[in-house]
Amino acid sequence: MKTFFAGIMTLLGSTNPEYNMSTPQDEWKKKLTPEQYSVCRLGATESPFSGKYNKHYEKGTYVCVACGQELFGSETKFDSGTGWPSFSDVKNNKNVILKDDYAFNMHRVEVLCAKCGSHLGHVFDDGPGPSGKRWCINSTSLDFVPAKETK
Ligand code: FE
Repeated sequence: MKTFFAGIMTLLGSTNPEYNMSTPQDEWKKKLTPEQYSVCRLGATESPFSGKYNKHYEKGTYVCVACGQELFGSETKFDSGTGWPSFSDVKNNKNVILKDDYAFNMHRVEVLCAKCGSHLGHVFDDGPGPSGKRWCINSTSLDFVPAKETK
């Protein structure tokens, strides 16, 4: 009977995975590509101009590649010239966590997914919009959900 329940739990776990803060590293290694794992879980930065969303301007929503949390809307995306997808605002402040980052002997503000803790990028105070923010995000950390056509 014990084995039976363990089997059911494994089945449920594998068919309906809920990726969040308590997902173990081993699970992330299985779910993510090596590049996604290195950016999202280890905080690496993709090379500038290398990401698939750097020059991507379709209408829709950018979500966390690791857990699917909604992060940025296409209406806030702009070309910062830095080589990384840049946004003037976040969809919902509750969907991200901001953390002081003192790596490389400078102070930056790191942006993490609030649901799963994945590293997304950094936010700077030199943005063009009313918020004055520039959310500088790795393409690797993002997935894109196109807006539905309205007829
Ligand atoms: Fe996430």
